[in-house]
Amino acid sequence: MRERSRTPQTKKIARERIAILFFLARAAFATHPELSNRYVELARRIAMRQRIRIDRGFRREFCRRCSSFLVPGSTSRVRVQGGNVVVTCLCCRKRRRYPVGRDKKDGQ
Ligand SMILES: [Zn+2]
Repeated sequence: MRERSRTPQTKKIARERIAILFFLARAAFATHPELSNRYVELARRIAMRQRIRIDRGFRREFCRRCSSFLVPGSTSRVRVQGGNVVVTCLCCRKRRRYPVGRDKKDGQ
């Protein structure tokens, strides 16, 4: 069962699984926030194993340092500072910066 193959097919399946895990993380957050973190961890592990990047849309939904699922106003704080969006993880205090308006250019 633990086959470590990496083909375009396994990568496609991995992407689907990651999407499902983020969907579950969102759904679970209201009732079981610790489960959301677990889903993020699993999604990151799948991405690592298949050496794929987590889709742009999901990348801002977790903390890269502690794998917390980030929900603005709950587990993360979002501020605009000097043309950047600064997202602070309230779990480990790690900050990430994004230029304002980047989403549109990326066609998200
Ligand atoms: Zn964190």
